[in-house]
Amino acid sequence: MQAPSFGGVKIPSGNGQTIRLSRGASLADFGDKVEVNPASLVQVLLHLGEMVTATQSLPDETLQLLGDELKYNVEVVSPEDEDRELLESFSIEFGEDAGTDEDLRPRPPVVTVMGHVDHGKTKLLDTIRSSNVVGGEAGGITQHIGAYQVGTEVDGEDRKITFIDTPGHEAFTAMRARGAQATDIAVLVVAADDGVKPQTAEAIDHAKAAEVPIVVAINKIDVEGADPQRVRAQLTEYGVVAEEFGGDVQCVEISALRGENLNSLLEAVVLTSDAALDLRANPEMEAQGLAIEAYLDRGRGSMATVLVQRGTLNVGDSIVCGDAYGRVRAMLDEHGTNVKSAEPSRPVQVLGLTNVPSAGDSFLVVKDDRVARQIAQQREARERFAQQSRSTRRVTIDTWKDALAEGERNELLLIVKGDMSGSVEALEESLSKIDVGGEEVDIRVIGRGVGAITQNDINLAASAGAIIVGFNVRPEGKNSELADRMGVDIRYYSVIYQAIDEIEAAVKGLLKPIYEEVQLGSAEIREVFKVPRVGNIAGSIVRGGTIRRNTKARLIREGIVVSENLNVDSLRRFKDDATEVREGFECGIGVGYNDVRIGDTIETYEMREKPRD
Ligand code: GDP
Repeated sequence: MQAPSFGGVKIPSGNGQTIRLSRGASLADFGDKVEVNPASLVQVLLHLGEMVTATQSLPDETLQLLGDELKYNVEVVSPEDEDRELLESFSIEFGEDAGTDEDLRPRPPVVTVMGHVDHGKTKLLDTIRSSNVVGGEAGGITQHIGAYQVGTEVDGEDRKITFIDTPGHEAFTAMRARGAQATDIAVLVVAADDGVKPQTAEAIDHAKAAEVPIVVAINKIDVEGADPQRVRAQLTEYGVVAEEFGGDVQCVEISALRGENLNSLLEAVVLTSDAALDLRANPEMEAQGLAIEAYLDRGRGSMATVLVQRGTLNVGDSIVCGDAYGRVRAMLDEHGTNVKSAEPSRPVQVLGLTNVPSAGDSFLVVKDDRVARQIAQQREARERFAQQSRSTRRVTIDTWKDALAEGERNELLLIVKGDMSGSVEALEESLSKIDVGGEEVDIRVIGRGVGAITQNDINLAASAGAIIVGFNVRPEGKNSELADRMGVDIRYYSVIYQAIDEIEAAVKGLLKPIYEEVQLGSAEIREVFKVPRVGNIAGSIVRGGTIRRNTKARLIREGIVVSENLNVDSLRRFKDDATEVREGFECGIGVGYNDVRIGDTIETYEMREKPRD
């Protein structure tokens, strides 16, 4: 067959051959598959009226368009499909209950609490967790593990409900974006004195999109000016029609603060679940489910809270969770009590994984450790490969705008690192939702993870031209210098909205940094002295720069910021007060914070005015 010609570029026809590309593949990936120089493919697309670079990730339609032109049958494979295929190669089916209808047993509903800020979501979750215990166990729930289960009596029967312990719809949508759904029912909290607000409407949209039934908690009925009837009327405008108004949505008037009417709310959840859903799962199979929260504990290692969706999880099982794997060494429930097994809808904290999974990662039990390791390694390799194939230039948030103006870039790439997987997911979700105005600009998170900023993150940022967003985490060891050397911009935040505001401002070209943080010194703690009436003093050696009295400080433990906004209150060389101590010298530092430990780093900084460019 004659090779088609595009402005002088000749490319052999695919003759209808099928090629498979991962979602978001670039022309470089396409070129690899068909053994054609990506630069020629850029030309072809230009000829078709699309201007793209070789490394830019492309939408499905563009990949298809190019395929049609070159006579290739392009199959775009989603990450979920790729993963399904990976599991199939081990003869594992994820997401299906084994057996027949008769093997299914009722399971408790899993609930997410959503609603507008300050309407009482957190209060409601706290009150329920502290006032209610399953099966008459003594003592309230004290641990936060990301989800908890409570019991309630409905029609003389003991029923259970699982609450996801992260209020708001960010976590909910972040999970959904990853193809995972944990929630069966949404409890929509609306303050009776404030009524329906923008985030109430958003929450309704998300619940509807996910086809999750809603139970409304009209909260704060104890407040003067509370008007529950008005809330019901407002909700009808959003298609949420209360039973009293002839609809099928249960609305319960409560006071989360005083703990009033919470049993009716729990009952409404159970009744809605019975009426609208048929929640059943097979407990007699190897467990599968989702990770909902995870972090690294210094002493115990990876602590991952998983929600069992089907099957029964047992201590000793070999599991894979995202790219983490291991054998379940122990399981803890929300009371901090050891449990041996967990049935469907039961959240438990799992100890024994090799690393920290992300919220929304699926978990499954496999037959042995070897299979678990192989699946985890293949997932990890795939992610690494995907990261490497993404673009090649370095940028900082300040130069990015210029690059954009010159047409060199049309996306802002970010790597998000945080102290908990929940916050990483929430931040990623919010960042990728920033409306940058004009369709040609994109914000894309190309890497994410829990824990300190590693050399790997910095390498990836340098090669992809990405900016690193550190949420309550810092670079490990000398990585801060490495980032400087490689020209990688790292932005640190401890409040989510601040991160979002700043990135949004930067993208819109509105960023006018007036102050910037300047690092002054860092010291390693080698000994801790108790000083009566003063507290703990950190016997330290200055590792870099100069430590000065009365400057701002933060305390870092294994790359994670454990305390912010401290102040160098006292500084001593031997018995004498000192105003500053230089690199290589020992000193005693008091930062007004008692939990200083050997091996921690004290980092000092000041906010300096930055000239505007
Ligand atoms: P969230 O942003 O939706 O999580 O709201 P919070 O749970 O943080 O609650 C916001 C404020 O409302 C807090 O000061 C709560 O103490 C208060 N609050 C929550 N529920 C009630 C209630 O039933 N009655 C009253 N009077 N205050 C409440």
